[in-house]
Amino acid sequence: MQTFRLALHAAYACGHSGVCCTSGWAIPVERHRQPRLAARAEALTTTRITWLTPAPGGAPDEVAGVLAQRTDGACVFHAQGRGCLVHDARPVSCEHFPFVVVVDPRGVHVSLSHYCPTAAALLFSRDASLEIVAGDPVLPDGRLPEGLDAREALPPVAGGAGTPRLMEWNEVSAWEQQAVRRWAASACETPPTPDAAALAAVYATVPAGLPAWYVPADLTGAWVRWGLTGWHTWHTVIGRYLAARVVASWALHLGEGVALVDASVAQARNVLQGEVARICGSEQAPLTQARLTRAIRQADLLLLHHADLRALADLAANTLS
Ligand code: SF4
Repeated sequence: MQTFRLALHAAYACGHSGVCCTSGWAIPVERHRQPRLAARAEALTTTRITWLTPAPGGAPDEVAGVLAQRTDGACVFHAQGRGCLVHDARPVSCEHFPFVVVVDPRGVHVSLSHYCPTAAALLFSRDASLEIVAGDPVLPDGRLPEGLDAREALPPVAGGAGTPRLMEWNEVSAWEQQAVRRWAASACETPPTPDAAALAAVYATVPAGLPAWYVPADLTGAWVRWGLTGWHTWHTVIGRYLAARVVASWALHLGEGVALVDASVAQARNVLQGEVARICGSEQAPLTQARLTRAIRQADLLLLHHADLRALADLAANTLS
């Protein structure tokens, strides 16, 4: 199958930042990876280390357990300055970060989680292109990457007025490229004031046990004082971020069609505005590249890793008239 992604994401290669290995995530270990990992763990040290801990209740049968963590939340196989000590035997989830994947009858559609700082840096590239291009597969050995498998799905419903109808797949591809350009261009315009109620609803989708998110105390004030000017200054980068949330959007296959993709990108814009206001407001300082990078990383941490994806989609669907 062909693999499609934004041209600006095509240059992605793991920068070994270690963020995915030190975030305290429960990383499942598949049974077929367990023997090789066990052998690597034994070869690493003469003292026996506990590297596998029990999987949470309800985990699928193929999960042998989750990777053990040190007290700081880092994976036991992560070494500061050296990266992953078991790289060629690492679990499947590790292989797939930071890829966001949807497989449909057209091929494999790939975007990136900009929680990964290496991926976030690509948004600031001087020559970043927003063309959706065919390119190399995510995994070199031909395996399909993990993601939403919509190969058996019907095409999405077309947007606009009139009787709902299913689109042709080539029409979907044309719509995606147009939506990428449209959302990128939208960042040149003044966005709506951040919606505190919508933000609170998004934060409420984060399951118990994960860090809670709160609406910044002076959301509107911080946005007006710092966010708005910063948004205009960094509209090119912000537009690329919004465009990236169009590609490989799971919302395309959740029933409401392309309109739900637009609604979910609007939701991502509101979350990003909230993070910009939070960071600039708490530091009483303008939006710089470093602060925008943090805001984008936090937005994707919430939207792609912490929030309940189905609940997010339901909230986005509620905004459709
Ligand atoms: S196994 Fe390797 S890649 Fe996976 S979390 Fe641990 S250190 Fe990171």
